[in-house]
Amino acid sequence: MKVYNKRLDITTDVATFKQQNKTIGFVPTMGALHNGHLALIKRALDENEVVIASIFVNPTQFNTTEDLVNYPRTLDSDVELLSRLSTDIIVFAPLPNEVYGDEMKSITYDFKGLEHEMEGKFRPGHFNGVGTVLKHLFTIVSPTRAYFGEKDFQQLQIVKKLVEIEKMSVKIIGCPIYREESGLALSSRNKRLNEIQYAAAPLIYKTLKQVKKDFGTKSATLLSEWVSEQFKNNTTLVLEYFEIAKVSDLKSIKRKQEHVKYRAFIAVFAGKIRLIDNIALN
Ligand code: AMP
Repeated sequence: MKVYNKRLDITTDVATFKQQNKTIGFVPTMGALHNGHLALIKRALDENEVVIASIFVNPTQFNTTEDLVNYPRTLDSDVELLSRLSTDIIVFAPLPNEVYGDEMKSITYDFKGLEHEMEGKFRPGHFNGVGTVLKHLFTIVSPTRAYFGEKDFQQLQIVKKLVEIEKMSVKIIGCPIYREESGLALSSRNKRLNEIQYAAAPLIYKTLKQVKKDFGTKSATLLSEWVSEQFKNNTTLVLEYFEIAKVSDLKSIKRKQEHVKYRAFIAVFAGKIRLIDNIALN
């Protein structure tokens, strides 16, 4: 199992793969790997001759130092998990200067408004951080395909826009949300939930599923009010936002139109831990 932390090591391998005309599947992660990540990596293994997974907790996409400091870091067990899938996977786990050079700074992107919706409103600068790190990682890894979870649906749409803006040839592939039996979407942050928060968290997906059921007969406004009600008296989960938005531009709607694809998006706090989820409505 190759685990690289130097940019030069990975770019040397990548140059060889390119000479051999091999397809490279890339799965960028921040580590603390779970089955959601592994599903992406399995898909990459199925579709490519070489698979590279990066494990890098990217400082520029965090809004609070507290969240960055508390983000789980479990490199040894991550590598162990990956080696059980395939010892051919190449892991890139760099220090920030290997990705950013001397200046760890975000590029300011114009993602055509996608960056101002939902997560963008509550996490200023977050998507510039995501865009910047991916631009650097895509340059280093030079992937044929890169795999992203629909768990972070807004991020997925922004990454598609990023490769358009940066004129990169990588194909962006979205993968379904991997859930626990309770419906809770897997997330590295779930590791930080206490017992009470963990027991309460399935309400998030339960609410989304009900919204999907009622979407045909109830207005977006009514559904938003109903969702607020579900969390109103909950002392464990605090609703940050719920929105029904168009898939194309992520703008939230009051009234639906025919032949337009919609998704419902939610962000909830359990104490200081922020959980997000979403569901396709039609
Ligand atoms: P992260 O390590 O949280 O940055 O996530 C790395 C990649 O895994 C992103 O593309 C996420 O959308 C994806 N991912 C995280 N959790 C899930 C999940 N439960 N199901 C599917 N993909 C996921």
